[in-house]
Amino acid sequence: MRFRTLAAGLLIGGLVLSACGKEGGPQGGAAPNEAALPKYEVAKNVQVAGSPTFARMKKNQKVTIGVKDDQPGLGYKDPTTNEYSGFDIEIAKMVAADLGFSAKQIQYKPVPSEAREQAISNGDVDYYVGTYTINDERKQQVSFAGPYFNAGQDLLVRKEENSIKGPDSLKGKKVCSATGSTPIENVRKEKLTQPQNIVEFQGYSQCVDKLLANEVDAVTTDDAILKGYAAEEPDKLKVVGETFSEEPYGIGLPKDDKALRTKVSDSLQQALDNGTWQKIYDATLGKSGSKAQKPKLERY
Ligand code: GLU
Repeated sequence: MRFRTLAAGLLIGGLVLSACGKEGGPQGGAAPNEAALPKYEVAKNVQVAGSPTFARMKKNQKVTIGVKDDQPGLGYKDPTTNEYSGFDIEIAKMVAADLGFSAKQIQYKPVPSEAREQAISNGDVDYYVGTYTINDERKQQVSFAGPYFNAGQDLLVRKEENSIKGPDSLKGKKVCSATGSTPIENVRKEKLTQPQNIVEFQGYSQCVDKLLANEVDAVTTDDAILKGYAAEEPDKLKVVGETFSEEPYGIGLPKDDKALRTKVSDSLQQALDNGTWQKIYDATLGKSGSKAQKPKLERY
């Protein structure tokens, strides 16, 4: 994976910086501001009556959280330290703490877009935090606490690209996205380019590799994800900046576990109310200076 290789190349710079005592990781512009991240107090004696998922977590004395591992700034696994970082990872950790689990009791499990519903309903993960759009189709298989963030579909192109200005200028262009995602579905449904021009992979980093290698013309997914890749390669990539869908992010949970959904919603609401959400946002996604609107939870 070329993108990973480039990220690893940046590590050398990161190491030099940390040798000078400066905070920073291998992720270039999308690296979180570690020092500004909140600390999450681990709740004691938590009960979630009637939640089979919580009972399983208690029995295992750990929580297995489904995440992305190739989305800088959101859910990213450092290939050298194996540490996870980003906005989604912080939300995942915060919820775990409110459920009574420390960071050490978390096991992250990378699950690509196309496999999320199955991983949740099979019980392979206790919950999922990874740029997961809440929609009615998915609600038939899983349930959601959220939204904890509102993103929108956008386009990532090479810096020198001038002919792609938005969704209406994609005809005849090779467009790459992830299998099982809402953006690729949107490209098909809206016929934004011809079927033979749609290229799909399990993850967006593979699309970014192809974009850098001139093998596709655009990568499409949520703006929040694309901004992370652009921040890693500011001299080579840019986000077009015209969103054309609504992608409200939810924490994916087993469908029938209403007790856990209520508990996770309480945790998100508290973070939105007490400044924790804002701190997380500012230290991760907000580093580029963009201001996020706090989302309004939809309980059901
Ligand atoms: N938010 C969109 C989705 O859930 C795109 C990002 C992703 O694939 O995770 O499909």
